Amino acid sequence: MAAPFRAQRKSFTFKGLVESLHSVTDGFPDARTGNNTLYSMQDAALGAFSVFFTQSPSFLDFQRTMQLAKGCSNAHSLFGMRQIPTDVHIRNLLDPVPPNAIFPLFADIVDGLRDFGYLDAYRSVNGDLLVPLDGTQYFSSTKIHCPHCSVKQLKNGPVTYSHTVITPVIAAPGTNTVIPLEPEFITPQDGHDKQDCENAAAKRWLRQYGSRYRTLGVTILGDDLYCKQPVCEAIRQEELNFILVCKPDSHKTLYEWVAGLETTGGVHRVQVTRRQGKRTYTETYRFVNQVPLRDGEDALEVNWCELTTTRDDGKVVYHNAFATNHLLTYENVVDMVKAGRARWKVENENNNTLKTKGYHLTHTTGMASNTSLPCSPPSISWPFCFTPCWT
Ligand SMILES: [Zn+2]
Repeated sequence: MAAPFRAQRKSFTFKGLVESLHSVTDGFPDARTGNNTLYSMQDAALGAFSVFFTQSPSFLDFQRTMQLAKGCSNAHSLFGMRQIPTDVHIRNLLDPVPPNAIFPLFADIVDGLRDFGYLDAYRSVNGDLLVPLDGTQYFSSTKIHCPHCSVKQLKNGPVTYSHTVITPVIAAPGTNTVIPLEPEFITPQDGHDKQDCENAAAKRWLRQYGSRYRTLGVTILGDDLYCKQPVCEAIRQEELNFILVCKPDSHKTLYEWVAGLETTGGVHRVQVTRRQGKRTYTETYRFVNQVPLRDGEDALEVNWCELTTTRDDGKVVYHNAFATNHLLTYENVVDMVKAGRARWKVENENNNTLKTKGYHLTHTTGMASNTSLPCSPPSISWPFCFTPCWT
């Protein structure tokens, strides 16, 4: 069971956040057995964070030079580092630390954002925070592997080893900043295909963190892969809401119901026209409440909505549909679709940022050339994800 949110703090500043980082990293397990403990585990953790925070691969080198020349450094004054370890030291010290050692920091940051009103700007349909779930691969290789790798044998091709993680965030339509929450690692035992694996990891995340985030009011977003009865039930069990992409191919029963209701006038419609530049666009929303998500007597009833955007020359420029447990009305269907579409932010604003801007420490090892990303394992799970692959 996840810990409840902490009591309100007095201020929410960069200094306060660094103090939180200190208190969490202070408890990092130290795998060293000898006397060579020049650098503390905390200095290693703060060093890794500082490189990520400044997005400068040479930050620590520069700070070391500054420390020698002037007797002081930003590494000390900004981040409170006592000694400045090298990249090699940082990797050696942090590799054995399990990723969940840093997880309390996620809750601590969300606490602060909540207490000082910063989450209010993220409130969406029915006052909920939107939390998209999405899986992303952060390591892939045909050569390097560990016991925790997911293994895939392509027909007549090489064996591919990979690591994948679900990276939930708090997102909002019209906001480019997302707030990362605790990630959930997909393990080889989770299933045989992408869908099994992601759904198992999503359910694990819901069990672990659902009760805590429920107090904030949360709607889970996800693609069609998550729009399955077991996942929807797991979400509802935690008293969270959902808006999930719902495609015809994977929801035949639901779409038969919609088609049937359409013939009797049971599908509601809202049409909005907007101008953009010289073009006019017509947005047609269709929605129904209480249709079965799947075949069978125990099928979960969901509410369904769809948006089709048509340009004035007749071309359909956008089409998508969603299943939700929120009751749909003429007044809220536009906002509901807008919220459902915020799902892509987990990919654009979180995963791509981490993959392309984050963790320059890995560039020095030469391992990246064997991987699918410019940064291999540590790049994705802020601020540390040192998997056994990495050693
Ligand atoms: Zn591995």
